[in-house]
Amino acid sequence: MSEPGLTLSVVIPMFNEEAVIPLLVQRLRPALDGVGEPYEVVAVDDGSRDATYAVLQGVRRTWPQLRIVRLRRNSGHQAALNAGLMSARGAYVASIDADLQDPPEKIPEMLELARTQGLDIVYGVRSDRGTDTRFKRWTAGAYYRLMRRMVGRNVPSQGGDFRLLSRTTVEALRELPERAPVLRLLVPWIGFPSGQVSYVREERAAGSTKYPLRKMIMLAVDSITNFSAAPLRLATWLGVSGMAISAVLVVMGLIAYARGTVVPGWSSLFLAVLLLGAIQLLCLGLLGEYVGRLYTAVQNRPAYFIASDTESSPARVPASR
Ligand code: UDP
Ligand code: MG
Repeated sequence: MSEPGLTLSVVIPMFNEEAVIPLLVQRLRPALDGVGEPYEVVAVDDGSRDATYAVLQGVRRTWPQLRIVRLRRNSGHQAALNAGLMSARGAYVASIDADLQDPPEKIPEMLELARTQGLDIVYGVRSDRGTDTRFKRWTAGAYYRLMRRMVGRNVPSQGGDFRLLSRTTVEALRELPERAPVLRLLVPWIGFPSGQVSYVREERAAGSTKYPLRKMIMLAVDSITNFSAAPLRLATWLGVSGMAISAVLVVMGLIAYARGTVVPGWSSLFLAVLLLGAIQLLCLGLLGEYVGRLYTAVQNRPAYFIASDTESSPARVPASR
């Protein structure tokens, strides 16, 4: 829920980011202090196994606006982001990665844009991904093209999780029954008035990526199944084409039989069995993805557990300048 007088919350999910925190604070703090209005920074420690939490506590001693929400275990980027979003209490809520790939200096610009134009959503859009690997750019490009087709034109083609939301938008997200929403799709899906601020994607300031290929694939599978039942229809289409092909083959087989031509048949039979087996397994697997998600949804377990929140000590006065 929002707190009167608190203009801005900045949510930062962090997983093993001890190396980057000092650099982050160095740039984020002046940028936020520069706005000259009350704010809070919600650092979500996503079950880090390094000194992230200790380092954050150290920073908090000199930066009372820093709030630390600690999750009980590593729950993933999206879950951490959600935890932060749901805990944030500002009239506007920005989210940014910890690794300084998104410039914190853009946050005041986003806030300004949202206020002057009465926007509910301001996306940070990457105008240049020169520092990402070619593979990352290619996979990200494919991902966003697919998402635009599924969710609609509202999805910015180069938007990550660097964005600013109004309180109205956050409350709308809260209303959604999903326990583990994919925010970068649900935010455009909500479709409130939005604008964009473009920025150049920088290199990770320190440490290494927390998004190995495995997590990227999981995000893509989650995004697709979250928004579309189209893969399920694949089974129907494969079945229909299979039937058509079979019909032709049956006629051919009967003609061959009538003519008395002996069909050696073994290899074609073998291939057909293999192919059909593979198609059936694929369709079963797809079905399984959805059934599994239904199961998870029915279980309705929380996507994260909050272990502690420094919010219990109310020390969020604006910086004296
Ligand atoms: N992150 C997290 N939990 C995870 C993985 C990542 O909170 O399980 C955070 C991470 O600390 C960072 C953000 O998500 O602030 C984006 O991760 P990263 O920069 O490693 O991803 P990349 O930019 O390489 O896609
Ligand atoms: Mg990064």
